[in-house]
Amino acid sequence: TQFTDFGLAAPLLKALAQAGYVTPTPIQAQAIMPAMEGRDLCGIAQTGTGKTAAFALPILHRLAGGNPAGASRAPRRGCRVLVLSPTRELASQIADSFRDYGKFLPFTTTVVFGGVTIGRQERVLAGGVDVLVATPGRLLDLIDRRSLTLEGVEYLVLDEADQMLDLGFIHALKRIVKLLPAQRQSLFFSATMPKNIAGLADQYLRNPVQVAV
Ligand code: AMP
Repeated sequence: TQFTDFGLAAPLLKALAQAGYVTPTPIQAQAIMPAMEGRDLCGIAQTGTGKTAAFALPILHRLAGGNPAGASRAPRRGCRVLVLSPTRELASQIADSFRDYGKFLPFTTTVVFGGVTIGRQERVLAGGVDVLVATPGRLLDLIDRRSLTLEGVEYLVLDEADQMLDLGFIHALKRIVKLLPAQRQSLFFSATMPKNIAGLADQYLRNPVQVAV
């Protein structure tokens, strides 16, 4: 398999060619097609396997497909794609990947995490963003301050779910997911899948495709 076999939108193929990607990694080979078709996904994969592209490419493809005019349709004080990540470092890397793969598409990506002043994040969110990558605590702060609403979310990515629980984000996570529209596509990734994580995946996913590397 090569990236050109998936039928990804041309602006994505151009970005991949520029990045020098030719062959999908195993997680990408398993995940990209079903996610492009709108299926929920439950993936067991560690960092370094190429899992970021495995969720970012199909999501960007779907955003682009429903949007031939090419304009951003981000709702004010909201986002269309929400990616939850346990740490600021990982969140920043994920945002960089969305920007890189989406460089020939009109979508905006923003990252928010704690430990920095909230005002600048609030100003960016006021106009709406297509892709929001966030750590759970700061996301809830922004929601409680009425600077962000999740009612327009169409795609949810939960990355490193096991680390999210290890870091004590379970209550934050549950609060966040309750605020999301039931009608959405959800992609769930974890390096390990013990019972409590599998239970969470069960709760949040609808008829998911299971992928593992
Ligand atoms: P990730 O597991 O998402 O953190 O990705 C690990 C690294 O592999 C990143 O530096 C990516 O840029 C790179 N990468 C991901 N997919 C591919 C691919 N299909 N071909 C070459 N490099 C890739």
